[in-house]
Amino acid sequence: MTATIDLAAHRPGDAELRLRDEVRQFLDDQRAAGAFRPRSDAWMSAADPTFSRRLGARGWLGMTLPARYDGHDRSPLERFAVVEELLVAGAPVAAHWIADRQMAPSILRNGTEEQRRRYLPGIARGECFFAIGMSEPDAGSDLAAVRTRAREVDGGWEITGTKLWTTGAHFAHAIVLLARTDGAPGDRHAGLSQFVVDLPHPAVHVRPITTIDGEHHFNEVVLDHAVVPAGALLGERGAGWRQVVAELAHERSGPERFLSTAPLLQAWASGLRGSDPVAAREVGRLTARAWTLRQLSLAVAAALAAGRSPEVAAALVKDLGSRFEGDIVETVRRVAGVEPRPGADGLAGLLAEAVPHTPAFTLRGGTNEILRSVVARGLGVR
Ligand SMILES: Cc1cc2nc3c(=O)[nH]c(=O)nc-3n(C[C@H](O)[C@H](O)[C@H](O)COP(=O)(O)OP(=O)(O)OC[C@H]3O[C@@H](n4cnc5c(N)ncnc54)[C@H](O)[C@@H]3O)c2cc1C
Repeated sequence: MTATIDLAAHRPGDAELRLRDEVRQFLDDQRAAGAFRPRSDAWMSAADPTFSRRLGARGWLGMTLPARYDGHDRSPLERFAVVEELLVAGAPVAAHWIADRQMAPSILRNGTEEQRRRYLPGIARGECFFAIGMSEPDAGSDLAAVRTRAREVDGGWEITGTKLWTTGAHFAHAIVLLARTDGAPGDRHAGLSQFVVDLPHPAVHVRPITTIDGEHHFNEVVLDHAVVPAGALLGERGAGWRQVVAELAHERSGPERFLSTAPLLQAWASGLRGSDPVAAREVGRLTARAWTLRQLSLAVAAALAAGRSPEVAAALVKDLGSRFEGDIVETVRRVAGVEPRPGADGLAGLLAEAVPHTPAFTLRGGTNEILRSVVARGLGVR
């Protein structure tokens, strides 16, 4: 199979430009009121449920969901504009991020009417947060090797297994799990299914994993014969692999895959006085790359909006974008002459947050080596 990548330029209309202005004004007001301090990698590490609810009240979550589920019937490109502004500002969006980015579209596409009514309005209000239960101790890049098993029991399913690196499971209201319902681990893609499991659950144990900077973003999640109702099955039994692949296009292609360290670039660029030609050249280079990546990410958003599933272009955005995020950190370290200072305001604090996060950029959401395989296969060169 070969895939082509359509890179039609996006020209924003008046409504989109007005929306951007509105979001910028809101963010300026919030910052001025002390509601948040810009953070590097905020979509992963800055969770603030109150801020999420404020965005929900503005109509900036669940934007593309239909009004019958309390969504806002906006286009994916309008959502893109809002998300981009939030990321560049380093706003605390981690609490709702996974729910709004990928679980809302997945439940809308695959869920039963009951699941849609149960979860989507809460996502749109910024009150219902989700975690992703894909990776396991022996199933990361090789996701089809998942061992978590769901066995059909009277009136529901009993699930046993361990999920790893589960971002936000400690505050999520539900987790979407990939588990084997049929066949043996060797059957690979066949026999996998997805489940929505409400949290907390007495037989689901969420254990913190602390990162090198002492922060707690992700977890190990152990399911010990956890019984869930029959209605927890998401989509078709045995179609879990197909559903997950479609979900990953949402997970890999958004502006967060090249803007995690944009607040750092922004802080550096706005502090330049014009007398440093080396810094000016580097800022110019990075800004040009950001613009190119943005076009690619927008092309994927447009393809998703048209109902396509652009896995290859999504993988490209993540590969190129996540390396770019790391290059921003490296360039600031090399050229700006600023020492990282944890907890400090401005460039020194943003740099201190970004440095320990950098190795994760090319791992999370699928490692870059794996993504290049996806691209090579999609383009027919492998
Ligand atoms: C910050 C962060 C947040 C995360 N959040 C979540 C989450 O919320 N939910 C979730 O389910 N997962 C999450 N993950 C897990 C993430 O998806 C996995 O770390 C990733 O898929 C890699 O799997 P692994 O860690 O098991 O590494 P491995 O698969 O063991 O890979 C180790 C190394 O070997 C390389 N490698 C493996 N196979 C191949 C191959 N065939 N060809 C070439 N190279 C190969 C990889 O590229 C990598 O460099 C998160 C990870 C991070 C870092």
